[in-house]
Amino acid sequence: MTINKTDILIIGGGPAGSTFGNLAAQQGWQVTLFEKDSHPRFHIGESLLPMTMPIVDRLGLREELEEIGVRKLGADFTTFRGGAYHHTYPFARALGDSPDHAFQVRRSEFDQMLFEGSRRAGVDAREQVTVTRVDRLESGDHRVTAVDADGQESVWQTRFLVDASGRDTFLSGKNNWKHRNPRHASAAVFAHYRGVKRRADEREGDISIYWFEHGWVWMIPLQNDIMSIGAVCDPEYIKSRSGSLDEFLLKTVNSMIGVRARIRDAEQDRPAQATGNYSYLSNRMMGDGFLMIGDAFAFVDPVFSSGVHLAMSSAERGIDVARTWLDGDRRAYKKACRRYERITRRGLETFAWFIYRFRTPTMSYLFSNPKNSFRLVEGVVSMLAGDVFTNRAVRRRLIMFKGVYAFVTLLMRLGVIDATSGSRPRRRPEAGSMVSG
Ligand SMILES: Cc1cc2nc3c(=O)[nH]c(=O)nc-3n(C[C@H](O)[C@H](O)[C@H](O)COP(=O)(O)OP(=O)(O)OC[C@H]3O[C@@H](n4cnc5c(N)ncnc54)[C@H](O)[C@@H]3O)c2cc1C
Repeated sequence: MTINKTDILIIGGGPAGSTFGNLAAQQGWQVTLFEKDSHPRFHIGESLLPMTMPIVDRLGLREELEEIGVRKLGADFTTFRGGAYHHTYPFARALGDSPDHAFQVRRSEFDQMLFEGSRRAGVDAREQVTVTRVDRLESGDHRVTAVDADGQESVWQTRFLVDASGRDTFLSGKNNWKHRNPRHASAAVFAHYRGVKRRADEREGDISIYWFEHGWVWMIPLQNDIMSIGAVCDPEYIKSRSGSLDEFLLKTVNSMIGVRARIRDAEQDRPAQATGNYSYLSNRMMGDGFLMIGDAFAFVDPVFSSGVHLAMSSAERGIDVARTWLDGDRRAYKKACRRYERITRRGLETFAWFIYRFRTPTMSYLFSNPKNSFRLVEGVVSMLAGDVFTNRAVRRRLIMFKGVYAFVTLLMRLGVIDATSGSRPRRRPEAGSMVSG
């Protein structure tokens, strides 16, 4: 049996795997990447965050991204209470120096761009090769078995292993490390439409989020007049459907007066698809000679478009972990692991805190009554921009925001603020917009 050798082997060529590969190859290591699919392939997750832009720069792919993307300057939210208005959160208002824009992308194009970019950086990136087995060797290396499209098996010995297999969660699935969050189970139905009304002028690339009683809806403008529309709903609501997925999605989004006004003249361009949207976390993030990044480690919820940023930023931070392992300095490796885990969990927990409360009357009230006392709105905008890992000024504002959240919840319980007016949809036409703050 031939055993192929490599410094780093990556399972999965999505944003996490291709980013890790590109940056690792830039450091001069021999990197092998296996992707079971072939690019371009459809993937959901089309809205990027500003803090991903500097990573794209370091991958040397900014010009290509600008060609395939739609410029996104912020996010707008239409809550139950504010059925007639949306509140815009422009990235330009973020604290610190996060970029004032990001892009909306077709993931088929974006993921192919990242994958090809990793090849150009020197990665031996192979498509239609599925990793089927991983064994740990006594030396600390890993032995990886993979099968290509012709059914040919190959065996590899790698000094460092990166699991970037996304929601397949290769390592945590095989080792029973994965825990679902039973309190945050939802499902998503999504499709592409042509001819949907966009926001006006420079805000035409913004993402729109609408609250409704069974969940929330996204609208993401893509190139060539395509709008990605998806509904993230309680599983019971999805189970209640009769008719096709296309009809179900249309009926759902038409129940929101603001969305209905925008899709009146639209045509469907891509059939609706559904996916379970369970939130999960692995109880391990790394170990001797391996690291799990992106969705292979955890997935929370798509509402703040955090998935690709968490995937690419964890890949970038993970380079230090791989470097210390490959250098053979075990103390430095442990230190790098601790630092990686602390920062990664901090970012994930910041998003999770907002996500798990996103549909409460308090959050609906706060998002529709944004007040910039103590620059809290700027702190929230920084979170929306993905600045959730190391910026202390942002962390301070988010801690204060949590205090305000608790106070408003108390006022709602005492009846000082009408909780239902923060959560009940009003049947009024969408009349206009307000910029937060
Ligand atoms: C409904 C929904 C909407 C979302 N919207 C957004 C959004 O707007 N913005 C955003 O940032 N995020 C969004 N996300 C999340 C986003 O899609 C993911 O977080 C992101 O794709 C994670 O990147 P990744 O590289 O970790 O995994 P993936 O992109 O899933 O890549 C993993 C790759 O590994 C490959 N693979 C798996 N197993 C193997 C194997 N055994 N061998 C070889 N290859 C393998 C897969 O084929 C895949 O290409 C959304 C998610 C959902 C469910």
